[in-house]
Order: sequence, then C-alpha cells, then structure tokens
Amino acid sequence: MVKCVFCGREESFHKGVHLIHNNGTVSFFCSSKCRKNSLKLERDKRKLKWTEAYRLVRVHAAEQAKRTADKQAEKKDEKPKKSKK
Ligand SMILES: [Zn+2]
Repeated sequence: MVKCVFCGREESFHKGVHLIHNNGTVSFFCSSKCRKNSLKLERDKRKLKWTEAYRLVRVHAAEQAKRTADKQAEKKDEKPKKSKK
C-alpha cells in the first residue's frame, strides 16, 4: 500500500490524490488537508502533531535523551567513591 507523503497514513480506496510531477515521481496525498499543508501552505511535516514524521522525530529524540541519560549514569557509577577513613 502507498503511504501519504505528508501524514504517513496508508492509502484507502477511492480517497486521496496521486500527484505526478514532471520528473516522473508520484506523490500520494490522502486528503486535501495534507495536499494543502504540503503544497499551498508549505508546512514542515515534522512540526505538525498529527503527522507520522512528527511522531518519528519525537520518538527518536526521546531515545537519544534516554541514551545520553544512561551514559551519564554509567559515568557516575564508574567514578571511584571517596572513602572516609
Ligand atoms: Zn495524509
């Protein structure tokens, strides 16, 4: 199945528009909302909460934050603790 190039939703029958560019690439838009946001309003799909790209960016950022937090925790564990004697 073809995915919408803007929101990432899968193509459903009798809905959406296939836009064929002059260079031969085909873009599928599931709705006029996606088509207008992409072509007319020229919005960044990574900045709109209802798109798949936004969720992917957020998940990736959350994973990276978790990884850096884990690394910092490991570094703290590796440091020798001063013993009081
Ligand atoms: Zn869409």
